[in-house]
Amino acid sequence: DSGLYVVATPIGNLGDISRRALEVLAAADLVAAEDTRTTRNLLAKFNIDNQVLAYHDHSDARAGRRILDCVTGGGVVALVSDAGTPLISDPGYRLVRDAQEAGLVVFPVPGPCAAVAALSASGLPTDRFLFEGFLPGKATARQGRLAELAQRPETLVFYEAPHRVLECLADMVEAFGAEREALLARELTKAFETLRRAPLADLQTFVAADSNQQRGEIVLVVAGQRDRVETIDADSARLLRRLAQELP
Ligand code: SAM
Repeated sequence: DSGLYVVATPIGNLGDISRRALEVLAAADLVAAEDTRTTRNLLAKFNIDNQVLAYHDHSDARAGRRILDCVTGGGVVALVSDAGTPLISDPGYRLVRDAQEAGLVVFPVPGPCAAVAALSASGLPTDRFLFEGFLPGKATARQGRLAELAQRPETLVFYEAPHRVLECLADMVEAFGAEREALLARELTKAFETLRRAPLADLQTFVAADSNQQRGEIVLVVAGQRDRVETIDADSARLLRRLAQELP
């Protein structure tokens, strides 16, 4: 069917490409890519030889126009990013928005996403989570944002650049406390995949002691603030107080 297909691609392991992603990429009239070279390499690995056009949200309007014209004319356009799910800390928001506003159909072709992959293996609560993406690069802005997040009860998910991971962990220890549970997920689905769950201060020590942990791609998942007193309902709290009074 004609439309704009938002196609997820692997975050490392090529085996994670879905059969449907391959079908859509092969059948598309046009593949809109964050980086044409990266995407051509990926397509070549699956013997797909298709037309690839550069698109990112700051592209000049012509790329967007060409994509929308193609779909309007009954074509299929596949939007991909360098890795994972487009629009998740990746380009595509404007295109999806413009396509919908032009009355075109947008279909997701779901697949890998580093945030969800890390969360799924984190051992931290997944019933509610807050995806923060990348924190600000500047220290004061980053510390300010972390301070704003310190009381959030949801599990927090961050993308972090390897050269900043140590600074970031130090700021997290400061903002959330040394004991807060967290997961460092590095190089997911790749040869040097590392998943380590520990209190923030331990993760900081672990990363500081091994410069390999300051390389590659990293997701940090941090437990939410769980104030035990608040999680007890009023009746139970009253009962606990009364029981405490009975204690010798
Ligand atoms: N759209 C992608 C997705 O669905 O995950 C994310 C793109 S964002 C520009 C790139 C960031 O995602 C990296 O800096 C890192 O934080 C995270 N990431 C991507 N691949 C990863 C992997 N294999 N292991 C750990 N983190 C990864």
